[in-house]
Amino acid sequence: MLNIVLFGPPGAGKGTQADFLIKNYNLIHLSTGDILRSEIKEGTTLGLEAKKLMNNGLLVPDDVVIGMIKSQLEKNPTSNGFIFDGFPRTQKQAKELDKLLNKKSTSISVMLSLKVDDQELIKRLLKRGIDSGRADDQNENIITNRINEYNIKTTPLKDYYRLQNKLHEINGIGSVSEIANKLNQIIDNL
Ligand code: ADP
Repeated sequence: MLNIVLFGPPGAGKGTQADFLIKNYNLIHLSTGDILRSEIKEGTTLGLEAKKLMNNGLLVPDDVVIGMIKSQLEKNPTSNGFIFDGFPRTQKQAKELDKLLNKKSTSISVMLSLKVDDQELIKRLLKRGIDSGRADDQNENIITNRINEYNIKTTPLKDYYRLQNKLHEINGIGSVSEIANKLNQIIDNL
């Protein structure tokens, strides 16, 4: 199996690149942000709780997102592999993900980490806020909170995967196809 952690701050381009990777390598895309947004749309209890946190740029509790990933892994027992997008975001999530994959006799193959500076992130997210109407993209304070959450709770995960020799860092500034080519190259050389 090919299991990819697609990593990077909000606005780094994870979703865009995930679309290429799922097609190229026949993978299943698991985005915790997308799953949470569909819970909000359906008006579930989980969605209502998550909405308050998301709209303030704060992380949703670990147990909630771990439960979502667990059920998606169970729903797709015969997949070629998965792209984890926006997950894991904390040490606890990373450790639980390892346990869940271990139960399937598999593991994370690689972490692809997209690097983009804060100024560019804010620019991209504000534009996405206008284009998509996403509530958490429309206010610079919320965006700053998300970047802070990322810097404090999520960046340390690079060390977690670096220690396992799985971290690859890629410049996330450039054309979409340029970046996609770089990601393909890394995967093909695994
Ligand atoms: P972005 O990467 O642009 O912030 P996402 O769609 O990945 O967008 O996440 C949007 C929001 O959903 C986050 O700010 C957070 O509140 C919540 N969220 C998504 N994934 C997780 C996760 N793994 N752990 C905790 N909260 C999450």
